[in-house]
Order: sequence, then C-alpha cells, then structure tokens
Amino acid sequence: MNTSILPTYNRAPLAFERGEGSWLFTKNGDGYLDMGAGIAVNALGHSNSELVEALTSQANKLWHVSNLYEIPEQQRLAELMVDTTFADNVFFTNSGTESCELAVKMVRKFWHEKGQGERVEIITFDGSFHGRSSAGIAAAGSEKLTKGFGPMLPGFVHLPWSNHDAIEAAINEKTAAILIEPIQGEGGIRLLPDQCLKGLRDLCDKHDILLAVDEVQCGIGRTGRLFAHEWSGIEPDIAMVAKGIGGGFPLGAVLAKTRAASGMTAGTHGSTYGGNPLACSVGIKVLEIVNTPEFLNSVTKKSGLITQGLLGLIDKYPDIFEEIRGTGLMLGIKCKCPNLDFVQEGYEKAILTVPASDNVVRLLPALNITIEEINEALSRLEQTANSLRIAK
Ligand SMILES: *Cc1c(COP(=O)(O)O)cnc(C)c1O
Repeated sequence: MNTSILPTYNRAPLAFERGEGSWLFTKNGDGYLDMGAGIAVNALGHSNSELVEALTSQANKLWHVSNLYEIPEQQRLAELMVDTTFADNVFFTNSGTESCELAVKMVRKFWHEKGQGERVEIITFDGSFHGRSSAGIAAAGSEKLTKGFGPMLPGFVHLPWSNHDAIEAAINEKTAAILIEPIQGEGGIRLLPDQCLKGLRDLCDKHDILLAVDEVQCGIGRTGRLFAHEWSGIEPDIAMVAKGIGGGFPLGAVLAKTRAASGMTAGTHGSTYGGNPLACSVGIKVLEIVNTPEFLNSVTKKSGLITQGLLGLIDKYPDIFEEIRGTGLMLGIKCKCPNLDFVQEGYEKAILTVPASDNVVRLLPALNITIEEINEALSRLEQTANSLRIAK
C-alpha cells in the first residue's frame, strides 16, 4: 500500500500495465474484461488506434497555449457539438465537477443579469451526484458527500427523486433552475422516465426557470443517443458533459442555449487548461466516431443482448440478483448479496464492474465492446454469481 498518496480512495489491489479495447492487462499479462471502462470514460475502449493517432499527432504539433489565444481544435469541437445538439454555445472544462460548477454559476448569473438576483435556488434530487467540489457536494446534499465539510454553499433545494408534485410545490419566486441527471449513475442507475423529463421541461417553461441536465455519465452515446435527454424529445437549457467525451483524456464541457448562457460574458469565467489542443483533438475524434446513427444504433443493439442475458441470470440466481436497471450501455444490477462482494468476487473471475449506491453493480462497458465480449462478460458474471452462491 502506497502511503504517500492521500488515502481517499478504496482501491482494489489491482494494477494494470496496458489496455486493448475492452481488456486490461496486468504486468504478468493477466487479462481482465473491463465492464467499467474507467467509470464510463473509455467510451471507445483502451488504446483505440484512432484516438491514439489523434492524440499523438496533436502531441507532435502543440500541447497547450491557454485560452489567451484562439484554439482551432476547440472551435471545431464546439461546432461539432452545436451542429448536432440543442446547444448554441460550449465552454470546455477538464472534468465533470468543473462542468457542474459552471452550470451553477451560469444559472445564477442568468438571473442576476435579468435583475432577478433573488432567484438563486436550484432544485436537485436525492441520490444525485454532481462532483466533489463545494458546489457539487452542496448540490447533491447527501450526508455521505457533505459530512464534515460545512458550511455548505447555500442555494440548493433537495427533493425526492422523480416526484412531480413535490417539485411543482417547491417552485417559488426564488427558484432559478432544476438540475437533474437523466439517469443517476452514482445513485444506482436510476432512470428518469422520458415522460418525467418532459414533465420537468413543461414545468420549467410554465414557471420560466432553467432546466440543466447533468449528462456527465449518461451522455456521449452511452444510452444509444448522443445525449440521454434526446430520448424524451426535450431540449434542456444547459447540459454538463465529461467522462466519455475525452475517451480517457481529461475533458469536459458545458453546453448551453444562447439565452441561458447570456450572463457569461468576457471575463466572467475561465480555465487555464480547459479545451486545450490535446484534449480537443481527442474529443473531436470521439465525437466523429460516436455521433453517427450506425454507431449509436449498435449501442442499442448491444444493450438488448446484454439485458436479455442479464434477465436470464436473474432467473437463474434470484438469491444473488434482484433487478436490472438502466438503458443502453449504462446498466445496473441491483444485488441481493452486498454489491461490493459481487464486484470483489468479479476480480477473481477477471471481470471489472463498478459499484454504485443502492446496492447496485454498474456495467458501463466501452461502447464498441464486441458481441463476443458481451457473451464473455455474461459468462463471467454468471461464474461470479455461482461462486457467491457456493460461498453462502
Ligand atoms: C462523474 C460525475 C461527475 C463528476 O465528474 P468528475 O470528472 O469526476 O469531476 C458529475 N456528475 C455526474 C453525473 C458524474 O457521473
């Protein structure tokens, strides 16, 4: 155990030397099937040759200049996003947390500029996750994230997940926005039904407040559309992006409509690294690959295969598994055994999964996982369940 690192992480005693697609290899050459993809980050798997080419060719030209100057790669990536989404403007960050920070600032500035500076409250939901910054933990509000870190940044109203009447009742003259993950990731793959997101959009329109969606985990093709909110047919005012967009290179973004972004004028926000040439070169390639109908449809097709297999496993192992949640390649298995036991036993079967709240095990594989690899994953999940049953 390396005690020189601040001990904030509960790490598995595993270290990998290289990766290839959906596989990770230790120094000894042992292969692990990676169904977590670095927590939904390695959207195109490990060492994807097109991403390696995008990164290395940029690395040989220019790494970083800061936002004192124009960055053509940033411009191009922003245009790609604006052309195919609800957004008119993009700001680039280095992480999901930074994207959430900007979303909060953007909402507050919007109302300030409108002369309604008293509108500072953002409605958020139980079980949500918006990063570990002071605003991020205050937004989520759970004891797990906030305990000992007070005083909390004020201005967040926490409501139960997916209770439309409670939301409408909570809206008042101080309400600035609703902030929601279309699918809660850390919260345990809790999916907001499409009609609920539509209902939230209607509510925001009715009361003239902003709708911000945190798509850090569920965005960038993970649900079979570029963004999860697209399934409901609505357009948000603001969307937070990170994880998959960089394919493993740190990159995030805030997408916004012109109106929602109108307070963010020159000098109101910034980032030294945000949207640097290396990150954006990779981001462009990720979007070019992911944002095609063929690629997105393949995600849906693979989701069907894996879901079918998982339902079979529930039938076979009702003592281990309770239910399957999620959509696309953002799936959760709610366990009857402790989820951490399942993840740990998976290491013995050389399959990597990710725990979440609510006793859920997450499957967030690379979006280009193959059908053979899906079958292999199902087989290893079954072996894992079998060992746990025998151990009982
Ligand atoms: C991971 C995550 C974040 C935080 O992203 P970081 O890159 O870890 O800062 C925020 N929101 C959601 C929904 C996430 O899944």
